[in-house]
Amino acid sequence: MNDNRAIDLRSDTITQPTPAMRAAMAAAEVGDDVFGDDPTVQRLEARVAGMLGKEAAVFTPSGTMANQLAVRAHTEPGDEILVDANAHIYYYEAGGPAALSGVSCRCLSGVRGTFTATDVETALRPPDQHFPTTKLVCLENTHNRGGGTIWPMERIREVADIACRQGLRMHLDGARLWNASVATGIDERDYAAHFDSVSVCFSKALGAPVGSALCGSRDFIQRARRFRKMFGGGMRQVGLLAAGALYALEHHRSRLAEDHANARTLAQGLARLSGIELDPTTVQTNIVFFKAPGVQAKELVSRLDRAGVRMLATGPHSIRAVTNLMVAAENIPQAVEIVGRVMQACQPNSCSSI
Ligand SMILES: *Cc1c(COP(=O)(O)O)cnc(C)c1O
Repeated sequence: MNDNRAIDLRSDTITQPTPAMRAAMAAAEVGDDVFGDDPTVQRLEARVAGMLGKEAAVFTPSGTMANQLAVRAHTEPGDEILVDANAHIYYYEAGGPAALSGVSCRCLSGVRGTFTATDVETALRPPDQHFPTTKLVCLENTHNRGGGTIWPMERIREVADIACRQGLRMHLDGARLWNASVATGIDERDYAAHFDSVSVCFSKALGAPVGSALCGSRDFIQRARRFRKMFGGGMRQVGLLAAGALYALEHHRSRLAEDHANARTLAQGLARLSGIELDPTTVQTNIVFFKAPGVQAKELVSRLDRAGVRMLATGPHSIRAVTNLMVAAENIPQAVEIVGRVMQACQPNSCSSI
């Protein structure tokens, strides 16, 4: 059922701008932002920088660009960056660090996306002409492939501590930092304080149609702005989009608690179904990963789609569901019921048509 009656849990990027958000976008004051003429973009950049306690911010068309600008602006070709093996920057950005910055990624084996200061320490290289220069440590909070996991503050502090002692820069992929803050009550600024740069996203859970931002010191953002132009991300009357992001920051942040409650309910419901492996206590924010060992994830997902629930196959037997602005609390028991029905039809020896 590929229409808007489906309960769409594929991602928190599928959200539609609300009528009020569209009205704010239509009314936006705009100008040529490459000339520095767009007052709405400037308002958004100042607002985000302020929220994160940084000097400056630059608006980007995607979170991928915000992250890749950070990698480019922190490094020189030949350098090395430290990332979790499942980090978006490494796993989902089309090889960007190698292609755009000429750096290599040293992958750390985190647990559900979070690694430790000891992992960083073990990866450090002695000063020697044979080795690449390690420049940057990247964290992701919340961690997408980790299952929406929140980095514990103490662990961030320990990693930041060793990075600081070793002269390494710290970048935070904060595409879902808003979710971490709503879930823990820890201000975005307190997380951001441990990093030289932070990327945040307006088009995921916050529900704006387009846009991310990269924040950092004034000099760093000036450097990133030049690379944004180089990468083709200099945009013109883009206040139209910035207005959607400003609206989302104002009106859609605190409601993330609903997405988190819905994800917990969904996880508890799915965990009770036979043929599904899921530990609901691992669900901390809006992302639910589960395994269906007896069926092909692709097949299950296409059957679910026909039955009116959309999810994403992320491995041979693993499936991801993400609660979002378009999914109401009453849709959750409906989704669980449909998954139960489809799973039953998928069991060996049962009728396979649904
Ligand atoms: C979605 C996402 C991004 C950026 O994605 P874009 O689709 O390029 O906006 C970056 N980091 C994480 C953790 C993400 O989930």
